Amino acid sequence: MTIALSQFDEVRLDRVSRDFGALNALRDVSLTIRRGEFIALLGPSGCGKSTTLNCIAGLLPVTGGAIWLDKNRVDTLRPEERGFGMVFQNYALFPHLNVRQNIGFGLKMRGRPKAEIDRKVDEALNLVRLQGQENKLPGQLSGGQQQRVAIARAIVIEPPLVLMDEPLSNLDAKLRIEMRAEIRRIHNELGATTIYVTHDQDEALSLADRIVVLRDGVVRQVGAPKELYETPAHFDVADFMGFRN
Ligand code: ADP
Ligand code: MG
Repeated sequence: MTIALSQFDEVRLDRVSRDFGALNALRDVSLTIRRGEFIALLGPSGCGKSTTLNCIAGLLPVTGGAIWLDKNRVDTLRPEERGFGMVFQNYALFPHLNVRQNIGFGLKMRGRPKAEIDRKVDEALNLVRLQGQENKLPGQLSGGQQQRVAIARAIVIEPPLVLMDEPLSNLDAKLRIEMRAEIRRIHNELGATTIYVTHDQDEALSLADRIVVLRDGVVRQVGAPKELYETPAHFDVADFMGFRN
């Protein structure tokens, strides 16, 4: 494969905190993610999922703690120095650039040669199954197709880590199920390491190798879907997972 993701052993959050004024949006979040894992960050609206993801990406400075990629401290680096791939709920595509230009944008900004950009964009297009759509503008695509473009754009820069913030929330129920499977397939084919934010228990249970349950900025439980299902550590985890009737 032409797209070869940067390799590493683990990403480690060490007591990461983020305050907004008097609000402690994240409190001492510690977490180790190993290469190749698909991690779901799960919790109700306002629990700090996006804040966690944005702190990892570098879009938001932490107010305490540190983030490590193996032996390298990354929370002090700018987002482009970290080089993580981001996928957002609203796709965040450039409306005036076609599919090929949207996907290649990051490589172009990094000054890569045109031949390399073309080769990698072609491979990304194949991976997300958008062959034949490359000259269209985002406005000419369905929501699912736009999210495929956003995923291609995130992975074409060969990031060590792929970060997705509720990527399927804007899609209708049928498409959500279809794209769920697609996201897991792409993760597997690339051998990616993915952190996937969702408030949807089903999504987390069906997609993730491990689920991190957040509540009020605190990690409540970390475990494989089966573990969470069988032995929720807290009453409110059981409650949120819908296991208590
Ligand atoms: P989630 O993604 O789980 O819905 P967020 O991480 O967006 O939650 O937000 C966590 C908490 O931090 C919420 O109480 C939210 O209102 C607050 N928050 C998030 N971003 C900001 C901001 N830029 N300024 C002030 N408060 C914020
Ligand atoms: Mg959010």
